[in-house]
Amino acid sequence: MLEYRSFEAHNLHELPQYHHLDKEQVQAIQTVAAVYPFRVNSYVAEHLIDWSRIPDDPMFRLSFPQAEMLEEEEFATLSALLGKHGISDPELQKEARLIQMRQNPNPAGQMELNTPVQKGNRLHGMQHKYRESVLFFPAEAQVCHAYCTYCFRWPQFSGLDNLKFANRDIQLLKAYLGNHPEVKDVIFTGGDPMVMTTSLLRTYIEPLLDIPTLRSIRIGTKALSWWPYRFTSDNDADDLIAFMEKIVRKGKHLAIMAHISHPREIDSPEAISAIRRINSTGAVIRSQSPVARHINADAATWEEMWQKQLLLGIIPYYMFLERDTGPKRYFEVPLHEALDIYNTAYRKMSGLGRTVRGPSMSCSPGKIVIEDVTEIQGQKAFILKFTQGRNPEWTNRIFFAKYEKSASWFDDLKPLDGQNKFFFTDGMQSLISRIKE
Ligand SMILES: *Cc1c(COP(=O)(O)O)cnc(C)c1O
Ligand code: SF4
Repeated sequence: MLEYRSFEAHNLHELPQYHHLDKEQVQAIQTVAAVYPFRVNSYVAEHLIDWSRIPDDPMFRLSFPQAEMLEEEEFATLSALLGKHGISDPELQKEARLIQMRQNPNPAGQMELNTPVQKGNRLHGMQHKYRESVLFFPAEAQVCHAYCTYCFRWPQFSGLDNLKFANRDIQLLKAYLGNHPEVKDVIFTGGDPMVMTTSLLRTYIEPLLDIPTLRSIRIGTKALSWWPYRFTSDNDADDLIAFMEKIVRKGKHLAIMAHISHPREIDSPEAISAIRRINSTGAVIRSQSPVARHINADAATWEEMWQKQLLLGIIPYYMFLERDTGPKRYFEVPLHEALDIYNTAYRKMSGLGRTVRGPSMSCSPGKIVIEDVTEIQGQKAFILKFTQGRNPEWTNRIFFAKYEKSASWFDDLKPLDGQNKFFFTDGMQSLISRIKE
């Protein structure tokens, strides 16, 4: 097993592959990292990145910041400061903070709208947006084994939101679930819950196993790709596997929600061993990822990825669109193009691979999938569908929006000509005013 080593902007020169980077790339990485957190580990550097193909290598783009992720002017200002006084210059950090604040650090109004209140107390570290599922953010899981450059959770990693989302108190969650028997799933997320030790993970999950109304436990993780040893040869990997078996034995469905953005992530013998081991516990791995320029914005990549997943017993689950935050512009794919990529790959799968849904946007009213492009009363239109609604009555409803070629997010869409709102616009308004009271 490889020794776990982590490289960030300040110790980049210790990276064994450092000599592959030219001076300009080093400067770009350190400059952009002042705004978007950068962290890569020895496994990603050694086994995933193809250093002979940088900077175009998708794994490189996925883990190393690129100059184009900032506006030209922002980059120039920061990089001048970096050149003058180095990484820890307070002025550089101040400037970086200003840029962060302009990047919509809290998209889709998550914090205000989704955090439940119980007996007058706001339950920080939890989100209950859709009736059947609760998200839980363990305090110790607010980091990842490596950071994805497109991650919409960058504000958590840069200390902008951090504490607000953290919640150690599993008893609060337990009490909440007792009062909400309609909740069927608890979704552990972060960061990455698989950065926690097994014994810590147990303290969070074990108390939930005897709640009869709870059916499924989901764990969102990128450890399969960023540190597969978590499931095979880490000190407490065997203990983790035994615990996963126990969850299944206790009658819960254990779903590992794997972030997999590129087929290469599940090519390595290390990842394949980890997948086999998880499968042996009775847990089910499902996969989700955004479609992102420079990483996976072509149908062949998705087809190959879904096909490989099927072979390995992973169920394709979601294709997402990049949320409207951070370096979105660098990665964005217009809605119509995402739909094309999705359809082209989807049509090549047999029915077994068509468990996937997408391209999906996690917006304030719900999860909205782009179904198709059509013509209605002479107007070109997107057909959209809620796969999750903030109001459960919206789930599975179809609606239309005016076709917009450049649209890359729901906010860029408008109702059809002749209609001044969507069917849920008023309902959304009243939900918001009720929650804000
Ligand atoms: C995506 C999401 C879920 C889970 O949705 P599924 O469609 O059941 O996978 C739950 N809560 C929030 C806030 C989400 O964004
Ligand atoms: S693993 Fe997930 S949470 Fe962590 S940086 Fe990547 S996308 Fe973000």
